[in-house]
Amino acid sequence: MSKLPGIYGANVFSDSVMRARLPNGTFKALRKTIDEGLPLEPMVAEVVANAMKDWAIEKGATHYTHWFQPMTGYTAEKHDAFISPTNDGSVILEFSGKELIQGEPDASSFPSGGLRSTFEARGYTAWDCTSPAFLKENGGITTLCIPTTFCAYTGEALDKKTPLLKSMEAINKQAVRVLHALGDTDVKRVTTTVGSEQEYFLIPEELFRQRRDLIYTGRTLFGANPPKGQELDDHYFGAIKENVACFMDELNVELWKLGISAKTQHNEVAPSQFELAPVFTTTNVATDHNQLIMETLKKVAEHHGFACLMHEKPFAGINGSGKHNNWSLCTDKGNNLLDPSKTPHENTQFLVFLAAIIEAVDKHADLLRLSAANPGNDHRLGANEAPPAIISMFLGSELTEILEQIENGETVTSKGNNKLEINVITMPDLPMDNTDRNRTSPFAFTGNKFEFRMVGATESIAGPNTILNAIVADSLQSIAVKIEAADDIESEVAAIIKDIMIKHKRIIFNGDNYTDEWVAEAERRGLPNIKSMVDSVPYIVEEKNISLLEKHGVYSKAELKSRFEILLEAYSLNINIEAMTTIDMAKTMILPAAMTYARQLADSINSIKKTSMDVSAFAQADTLKAVSENANALHKAIDKLKGARDEAEKLEGYTIGMATAYHDEVFTTMNELRIIADRLELLVDRNLWPFPTYGEMLF
Ligand code: ADP
Ligand code: MG
Repeated sequence: MSKLPGIYGANVFSDSVMRARLPNGTFKALRKTIDEGLPLEPMVAEVVANAMKDWAIEKGATHYTHWFQPMTGYTAEKHDAFISPTNDGSVILEFSGKELIQGEPDASSFPSGGLRSTFEARGYTAWDCTSPAFLKENGGITTLCIPTTFCAYTGEALDKKTPLLKSMEAINKQAVRVLHALGDTDVKRVTTTVGSEQEYFLIPEELFRQRRDLIYTGRTLFGANPPKGQELDDHYFGAIKENVACFMDELNVELWKLGISAKTQHNEVAPSQFELAPVFTTTNVATDHNQLIMETLKKVAEHHGFACLMHEKPFAGINGSGKHNNWSLCTDKGNNLLDPSKTPHENTQFLVFLAAIIEAVDKHADLLRLSAANPGNDHRLGANEAPPAIISMFLGSELTEILEQIENGETVTSKGNNKLEINVITMPDLPMDNTDRNRTSPFAFTGNKFEFRMVGATESIAGPNTILNAIVADSLQSIAVKIEAADDIESEVAAIIKDIMIKHKRIIFNGDNYTDEWVAEAERRGLPNIKSMVDSVPYIVEEKNISLLEKHGVYSKAELKSRFEILLEAYSLNINIEAMTTIDMAKTMILPAAMTYARQLADSINSIKKTSMDVSAFAQADTLKAVSENANALHKAIDKLKGARDEAEKLEGYTIGMATAYHDEVFTTMNELRIIADRLELLVDRNLWPFPTYGEMLF
């Protein structure tokens, strides 16, 4: 711990490094660009590039890369050495402003969803100076990583970062407008802040290596439930085992070096499941950090003989992993706009933003649901462990009551003249993470922030936050228009809140989201229940959503169409890989094990017969019958799955039709096959079973 101050941020080209290494004028110009979103002067870039290069080389870097976030959801890098050959046969170390600002990686192999034909393979990366450059250490090589956006020759975004930055700009604009209209005219900027908790599993790496399903798909496609699961709740917050503690220790140091404030770590609900939470920061930086957290988790796990599983549902029947996206808004004066606070003046502000969020979440539940959709999350959402696929909001009883009182014109004190004076409502002291910590809500108010709990563990948080920012920006805009035009701000605000409550309070639900009663109630309320990724994808190209996202400059129509295609393609490809792996393992591992066992049983039965004892009195006969029946059923199921997969492949073009076939036919058939295989696991001699069982991996 005494070393911590030296470690923290050691690999980040941070504000303090820049202040120390850049001429004052350059530093100020760069800060202005960062703080006010102004364009960067070429001269400034030149000086920054040089300082960055010197710093990186002093720290042992030999290469640099533009580090970007293509639509795969992962990060991408292409390393270039700093060297530049000279005429006399030696090299000098160079890094120009141009190289800092712009790169031109061949983009042809990144998903583009039709935005770019292969013959126009060019893609451009552009420095995102709002997120600091950092050094990545990997096997003895140190590389300077420059966070960038990534776009096509035609300017369309090919990445997840560009829309995110645009959404931050959109919400900044509308939030500042609302604050100014409310009289808080000093505020210059509003940024969204995010702290995303990351869940993951650790299993012994040697067992991971023996499971083709984990290697190819990230989740187990087979596996009967062990006699003990998570029912005893003995893992949650339990004492951290020594080997895991050593892993966490190295993990923290690696993250701290990158300036990632890893803070909280604990055992999660499922056996061998853990969670890591950093301290929140600006959304774009939090997004970069989450990518680095996922990468570092995997890397450090290997150092300790673990494989880190980040899949949303690595084990059937056992809790999956999510990523709780804690989200709020903060002014340049450091005020958290979702802090209810104790002063009435700020209460009004708080209630206005709260109302905006209520409206946004209700109006755009479809987009929010879509933003958390991926093939892995289909196993989580709606299963009895994670928030269901229905979006609702938890506000806690106190807040809900206040809003209802405003809606009914009640508590709101009238000062003799019956004028609504919202200012005089004093918030009760809201406990952080209100009341009974409603863990079942997909979108919960937790004291001074909202926690969006649907996000999947492997997912980039760029998408969910882009949508969240954009939909709230839209509500804030309509509120700003009204307040700006109002003569009497107080009564206008009360009217706005009342109106929003009347129209959108159906989204507020403080009860248990896991019950069947809620599903029925939600249906009565008219809330969408979008059960699968395939069902959610088409919403991205609905007219109302295109116009919303275009209006705020977050995505163009062409960009949305491309995301529509990419999501469908990703789904089909994913299920195809799962199906092929299922067939492979069933055919070349499980069936042979079952047949070997059947032969052993048959041999044994023959031996018994030779003794002229009654075979039917022995377990062998029954067991052989059961094994053979299930092996035959498995054999048939393999053929059926092959057939379903081939039919889906015939549909071509990664259309909605193909994705639907993969979902309705291939995925379903795969699950049927699994049930048979899992039955066999419980029948066949453990010594013959061809891969590690759930019990072996998890305990
Ligand atoms: P919980 O309520 O889940 O027990 P914490 O209070 O520890 O958790 O916070 C969980 C996450 O929320 C952390 O990453 C924390 O930094 C983040 N968080 C706290 N305040 C904010 C905020 N204003 N904006 C965004 N994230 C926040
Ligand atoms: Mg939490």
